[in-house]
Amino acid sequence: MSMTRFQALAELNSRLPNHVAAPSAKVSDYFGSNVFSPFRMREYLTDDVYEKLMECINMGVRIDRGVADHVASAMKEWAMSKGATHYTHWFQPLTGATAEKHDSFFKPLGDGRAIEKFEGTMLVQQEPDASSFPSGGIRNTFEARGYTLWDPSSPAFIVGNTLCIPTIFISYTGHALDYKMPMMKALHAVDHAATAVCQYFDKEVVKVNTTLGWEQEYFLIDEALHNARPDIAMTGRALFGARPAKGQQLEDHYFGSIPDRVMGFMQEFENESHLLGIPVTTRHNEVAPNQFEVAPMFEEANLANDHNQLLMDILDKVARKHQFRILLHEKPYEGVNGSGKHNNWALSTNTGVNLLKPGKNPKTNLQFLTFFVNTVAAIFENADVLRASIASVGNDHRLGANEAPPAIMSCFLGEHLSAMLDDLEKNIKAGKMTPQDKIELKLNIGKLPQVLLDNTDRNRTSPFAFTGNKFEFRAVGSSANCANAMIVLNTIVANRLLQFRKDVDARISKGDDKDEAILKELQRLIKMSKAIRFEGNGYGDEWVKEAKKRGLSNFTDTPTALAIWKDKKIQKMFQDLNVLTPEEIHARYEIELENYSRRRDIEASLTASIAMSNIIPAALRYQSDLLDNVQGLKAVLSASEFKDAAATQLSLIKDISKEVNALKKGADAIKVELQKAHTMDAEKQAKLLSGTIKPLMDAARASADKLELLVEDESWPLPKMSELLFTN
Ligand code: ADP
Ligand code: MG
Repeated sequence: MSMTRFQALAELNSRLPNHVAAPSAKVSDYFGSNVFSPFRMREYLTDDVYEKLMECINMGVRIDRGVADHVASAMKEWAMSKGATHYTHWFQPLTGATAEKHDSFFKPLGDGRAIEKFEGTMLVQQEPDASSFPSGGIRNTFEARGYTLWDPSSPAFIVGNTLCIPTIFISYTGHALDYKMPMMKALHAVDHAATAVCQYFDKEVVKVNTTLGWEQEYFLIDEALHNARPDIAMTGRALFGARPAKGQQLEDHYFGSIPDRVMGFMQEFENESHLLGIPVTTRHNEVAPNQFEVAPMFEEANLANDHNQLLMDILDKVARKHQFRILLHEKPYEGVNGSGKHNNWALSTNTGVNLLKPGKNPKTNLQFLTFFVNTVAAIFENADVLRASIASVGNDHRLGANEAPPAIMSCFLGEHLSAMLDDLEKNIKAGKMTPQDKIELKLNIGKLPQVLLDNTDRNRTSPFAFTGNKFEFRAVGSSANCANAMIVLNTIVANRLLQFRKDVDARISKGDDKDEAILKELQRLIKMSKAIRFEGNGYGDEWVKEAKKRGLSNFTDTPTALAIWKDKKIQKMFQDLNVLTPEEIHARYEIELENYSRRRDIEASLTASIAMSNIIPAALRYQSDLLDNVQGLKAVLSASEFKDAAATQLSLIKDISKEVNALKKGADAIKVELQKAHTMDAEKQAKLLSGTIKPLMDAARASADKLELLVEDESWPLPKMSELLFTN
């Protein structure tokens, strides 16, 4: 329902905070109560079935039919006891949203009676109508079949009256059509590679899990204002709007007190999250007005990502209940902070060790340094594909803009670790090391303080920063599925660790002892990857120049960033590690280009249509008022009096004409270029949209924003930036 600006503003005055009664119980009493968790499985499954299921989950072994039947029947019993009537396979197609298709448990028996039925086959595999999900040409149109397959490592949960079963989504030919399948494969690859390297230090390590702690930023906007802004309603961002006199300069929002209405919303989505076992713990205001953040405790990465996907849905639903809309777009408003989704990433062993946490003694510190240096080296070797993993139409506006990391990939290590790596680089002898050399080095390594979690030593301008016991990938966009970043990060780290194991083994076979071989290999990696280390201000222009000198890439738009997927070496790495085949990579490349183009295309045509049907008419109406005024003055004043009295009006009339003409021309040019774009192939189309149409949109916006400042407030049709940012 569209609304005028003044109707929307009037409605705002009637808003009251929607207080959510705090549940009478403690969080610990109801946390996870809508999840068929391992704890609950113990209750509903026989010991035998439970053990078998856990073994399958932990070792990635296939689940046999008998176990699946038992689990299905237990799941049904539990779900029905909670009031569930339907079930769905829940999956993550490449559209970016999650998908589900609900089926009822009840089946008619054919004799007038019915039963509730849910068997192993229904749990394990479904065949949703896949033809309307993107496949990048993998699934021929005549072969529309796709399958969803149960992921037992992520527990089923209940939303409303539906039992939701996390699944992967594949084509008839077995190709991945989703984010989850390659993510699980990448996690497996890094597990395998990291476990092999851990064997140098601790034979007890048989499994390495990736841990992920995401921090989700978002904006809230009142529903009425949202409905009065067709651009925001349709694209998630304001295509027009002059900068308000007050933006975020005062920095009075960050960690400020949370408004009542927003607090009501937060309490409700936190309750919902806790029921679903999503361990959200942190809430606060963000840098920009009406911007907020929610973060959970970190979890195993596959589960953490499912939880993020689920949370994005919950945020949207609960926001609507509170007459808000949530904006997950990376840059809803020019000129103020954008939204990211920091991905905190670490590796942890079955023995309970975080491999990215400095240890207590030289041995564990050498293990830490091994994983630390290899991660930095992996970023160095494959910065371009890491950049591609975060490319999206929305993130193009954020990267390199206000308070957002640049599009140049680099690693921040902090003073302590930088110094330690510099030392290692200098102090490891090229030839055979004497026992004395080794003792000195070990002593040195042992000096690394165990706790590096020093808040002062944080660089918030780095896209990939070490923060004491984990790396924080800060360049991920707020609307993204973390899987994209996690697939690439874990694959390139797996690739690096496998190579490390090979190189160290080669040194050992030539006569170095183990520690010496590791140290020498680390030294080589430290030297090799120096260019990727940057401790300075990533927001500054200086860094852009410096990075160029160092030979680092700076892909500032999505079409350019995605091109790395065509690189045969990259394709081979993903294939060798069994994460994605070249066909799957090609399909994803096409889907992402298409996603980019579709969204930019919608924005461009909306820019033109809002200019023509909202902004220009308002400007002309006001100009007519001015003209009436001028005519009136002319009728009653002498020629010399008139000249003086009408000066302002005449100059406003001229200024308005100038910007109206520019805006009209801009809108026309956009339409012409869009026509051309529609006849092009995917790559050319994306390039035209980014290189030509986007600048035309920017120019049109500049004229419209000037008009906003020329036209009287009463006549302006669209809610203004100050209204979008400062009301809630
Ligand atoms: P901030 O970065 O905002 O200062 P913290 O450093 O406390 O905050 O943690 C940020 C996020 O990092 C939290 O969501 C937390 O769950 C996550 N995190 C902490 N340790 C790990 C880890 N070992 N692996 C993955 N994520 C982690
Ligand atoms: Mg953070």
